[in-house]
Amino acid sequence: MPQHKFLLDESRLPKAWYNINADLPVPPTPVLHPQTMQPVTPDFLGVLFPMSLIMQEVSTERYIEIPEPVREIYKLWRPTPMFRAVNLEKALDTPAHIYYKYEGVSPVGSHKANTSVPQAFYNKEAGTKALTTETGAGQWGSALSMACSFFGLDLEIYMVKVSYHQKPYRRIIMENFGANVFASPSDRTNYGRSVLKDSPDSPGSLGMAISEAVEAAATSNGAKKYSLGSVLGHVLMHQTVIGLEALEQMEMAGEYPDVVIGCAGGGSNFAGFTYPFLHQNFRKGKKTRVIAAEPASCPSLTRGKYAFDYGDTAATAPIMKMHTLGHTFIPPGIHAGGLRYHGMAASVSAMVDHGDIEARACKQVETFQAAVQFMRAEGIIPAPESAHAVRVAIDEALACKKNGEKKVIAFNLSGHGHFDMMAYEQFHQGKLVDYEYPAELVDQAMKHLPKVA
Ligand SMILES: *Cc1c(COP(=O)(O)O)cnc(C)c1O
Repeated sequence: MPQHKFLLDESRLPKAWYNINADLPVPPTPVLHPQTMQPVTPDFLGVLFPMSLIMQEVSTERYIEIPEPVREIYKLWRPTPMFRAVNLEKALDTPAHIYYKYEGVSPVGSHKANTSVPQAFYNKEAGTKALTTETGAGQWGSALSMACSFFGLDLEIYMVKVSYHQKPYRRIIMENFGANVFASPSDRTNYGRSVLKDSPDSPGSLGMAISEAVEAAATSNGAKKYSLGSVLGHVLMHQTVIGLEALEQMEMAGEYPDVVIGCAGGGSNFAGFTYPFLHQNFRKGKKTRVIAAEPASCPSLTRGKYAFDYGDTAATAPIMKMHTLGHTFIPPGIHAGGLRYHGMAASVSAMVDHGDIEARACKQVETFQAAVQFMRAEGIIPAPESAHAVRVAIDEALACKKNGEKKVIAFNLSGHGHFDMMAYEQFHQGKLVDYEYPAELVDQAMKHLPKVA
């Protein structure tokens, strides 16, 4: 009988993160100041982030040591298990071998704690008193509230208003850890008040909540710093513990993946899982295909433009070159809230553009079909975000069946879906809809891209 689980001892927890900057096949593009459109200086970023994280952002060292206090907290749930989906393989009747790394075992149920803990650590070390952040469906907010409570930092969270009302349980998790949670747009910031004045019933968006959280930190005279759960280089790097462990676990299994897959919102769990495999492609002659799975309703990689754009809706965050649908684009209210971001991490975007990474868009209904098929075989209920990776993995396994190929497929299951039961209920009742690619809205948003010389 094939083995189901590949477990690493705590002593095998990685001692360093992998930094893709050392191996990028294309030179990094500069991050620009939102007003001057000139490359940002560390002083500008220093208002929002501690210097240690800014240095990680620009570092080209291949490995960056994980501080011991961070490793100690990681040990609460890491190393995470890697499974071979033996039962799913049987259900699909595929010759392929399917593996998945499960990040839902973290206390807050997703991979996001892999970066919230180091971000809180470096802020504490730099003397920061409080952090501000945004959260969509609430996964990032819960991960950062746990980390802030471990390190004794206050936390102010701007939560997208529609989720604040529809997903009260995650708000309560954040409050359990001691965070203050506000529905965004709120009346606490100039930007929030300006949105409320024009559209009092605004459901909010991730881009708006980012603008509020950035403003709250930037106007605090240094007391508060801002923390972001995805998109930035240091965030992606913190997540590489996932892929570094997975490399060892695949070795335990005696196989090496032909295909690796992750779902991509801002790109952090995708990068965290796949970059250590890309390292093997770039430096060790491996030829693994790398696939990013995104929602068809917010398809920044497959339909967006590779261009300079603002990181937030109010155009106050730095400008980066990335695959974007336009910073003013507000995606449809799909259930994979964590994938509703207009842009994508710069390094992921650059490597999609360069051909090192493939991207695929999945519609909402087929994504939930995959999630249900997966849970009925493997027992784990995937987060709707993670279900996009499940969809692509199943499609790859079905292609293997059709072509009689015995490929090894590995994907990242970024979190569990225990707080997404309303979405699953709608799916079972046949009420979930597929949003068409919102071409007109994207065209309109594209008109607002910054004009960078
Ligand atoms: C937030 C989230 C995502 C999307 O964010 P990335 O930065 O793209 O990883 C995916 N899956 C889960 C479970 C999440 O909580």
